[in-house]
Amino acid sequence: MTDVLGTVTDAVYVVAVLVFILGLKALSSPETARRGIIYAGVAMLAAVAVTFLSPGLSNFLLIAVGVMVGGGIGYYWARVVKMTAMPQMVAVFNGMGGGSAAAIAAVEILGGISDRTIVGLSIAGAVIGSISIAGSVIAFLKLQGWLPSKPLVLPARQVVSSAVLVVAVGFGVFGAVVSELTWFLPFFLLLLLYGVLLTLPIGGADMPVVISLFNALTGIAVALDGFALVSGPLGDAGYAMVIAGTLVGAAGSLLTVLMARAMNRSIGNVLFGAFGAVEESGGPIQGSMRPMEIDDAASLLEYANLVIVAPGYGMAVAQAQQKVKELTDVLEARGVTVKFAIHPVAGRMPGHMNVLLAEAGIAYDKLFDRDEINAEFPNADVVLVIGANDVVNPAARRAGSPLQGMPILDVDRAKNVLVIKRGQGKGFAGIENDLFYADNCHMLYGDAQAVAGKLVAAIKKS
Ligand code: NDP
Repeated sequence: MTDVLGTVTDAVYVVAVLVFILGLKALSSPETARRGIIYAGVAMLAAVAVTFLSPGLSNFLLIAVGVMVGGGIGYYWARVVKMTAMPQMVAVFNGMGGGSAAAIAAVEILGGISDRTIVGLSIAGAVIGSISIAGSVIAFLKLQGWLPSKPLVLPARQVVSSAVLVVAVGFGVFGAVVSELTWFLPFFLLLLLYGVLLTLPIGGADMPVVISLFNALTGIAVALDGFALVSGPLGDAGYAMVIAGTLVGAAGSLLTVLMARAMNRSIGNVLFGAFGAVEESGGPIQGSMRPMEIDDAASLLEYANLVIVAPGYGMAVAQAQQKVKELTDVLEARGVTVKFAIHPVAGRMPGHMNVLLAEAGIAYDKLFDRDEINAEFPNADVVLVIGANDVVNPAARRAGSPLQGMPILDVDRAKNVLVIKRGQGKGFAGIENDLFYADNCHMLYGDAQAVAGKLVAAIKKS
């Protein structure tokens, strides 16, 4: 009977892992992403469910209560979260993964120090998982605005935090060598402190990259825990954790590298550069921003051959995507070609603009990546910038600018640029935008949804 159960459990783990991989693959395109999430969720549910069949598992009531409380909170929060608050939710969920990995490692270590390899793996899992949960909590507090989003740069921070890490690991290794559990308390506390010290000097604009990095670390911690569990009574679950953790670790690492690359930064610069702590050098930009009346802007759009829309974080804040779709429809009905220029870090998370535009029913073949569309801007009669700022800031081409080197959408090279934003607000990087002062640029002040609605009405009535 136990053999049959074991075979069934193994088979479910193998299928779950295969479905994880399919889910991950489906996440690579907005068209299939929803399916990918469902695949991964069902696979995870199946893997958790069969773990209950593991021989020798006890404390069912405690586990069931934990699953219900955690699952209930997660379900509720995921349902009510606003799209713009998604990064902080991901930070917390991911931090919980890191915390769980650290807790599993703690249980392994506290369960008795006999096998040095298992203790070594558990120590590694504990180090990574503890840093991940402490760092993710700080990331959440910064993104939520409960801690200042600016980098908090402490004196000699790198020396202090490196020392904390070295001493922490020293406690862990010493504890393992002398087989004394008391050494593990300072070990865990110092690791948590290291996670805090590592994340405090990182500015809000870099947080999504950091969250992605912590996500990768969580995956690695889970995989290490999996290795430690393999020889115990939950051995099969250990294999599933190794594979799932490795997938998360690999995918998270790739995402981190891609995000950093899209911002033209190295991971080291994101982690240790305290980006945003130094104010922009140079004086104010000469000239002034010039507003345009809605009717004039509507005429400009209506008589254009090619309009390129460059959306950004403000479109997400305003939830303007439906109105943008209506605007696209009325312009196309008048023979205007409308294309969308998607910058990889527009918004606050990878694929943010793709998700919003897809939600509004804008066809994928109208969306173009930065590399595909940049050469087309000089041919555009009008570029309509909707709540984007940093990703269209030509300051990135200027030596000495904090944005220097960040690949941008070359919207300033279009014949006319219209910018929808509420006022004089800066972008996430907190620096002035040269574009808004350019001769070919006019401002349409107001909330993106309201302004897009007014443009639709003005075009319809003409
Ligand atoms: P920005 O954050 O640079 O600018 C958004 C602009 O939208 C602001 O200038 C603001 O101006 C305007 N805005 C805000 N609310 C509204 C509203 N309701 N209606 C109209 N306009 C509004 O956005 P971008 O998308 O250009 O740039 C994204 C930034 O986030 C980059 O710095 C990027 O590096 C960073 N980032 C993004 C990541 C990602 O994965 N996407 C990851 C890491 C970082 P005003 O207040 O005047 O309205």
